[in-house]
Amino acid sequence: MTYPYGRPYRRRRAVLIGMLQPGIPCPRCRWPMFKSADQAAAHGAPRWLSELDVDHVQRVAFGGAGGDSVLAHARCNRAGGQAITAAILRRRADR
Ligand SMILES: [Zn+2]
Repeated sequence: MTYPYGRPYRRRRAVLIGMLQPGIPCPRCRWPMFKSADQAAAHGAPRWLSELDVDHVQRVAFGGAGGDSVLAHARCNRAGGQAITAAILRRRADR
């Protein structure tokens, strides 16, 4: 499997952040998303609301790299990925 977070990932992230409307809700937690820490601060929002990841509609773990993707908070995206990984590992451990 090729590394999914190389240059295409960074380019996609830059494009999505360029198009982001400030304050648009995160698809995972519904809190607003901002392009930069300065922009978040200007809205009185905490810094983590401007820390964004590309969130693959189909999980990278299931071959979703390069598929449809949207922005989500890094915190939300990574928590979701970890929950799925933990569930997979738990199921394997049960066998
Ligand atoms: Zn979020």
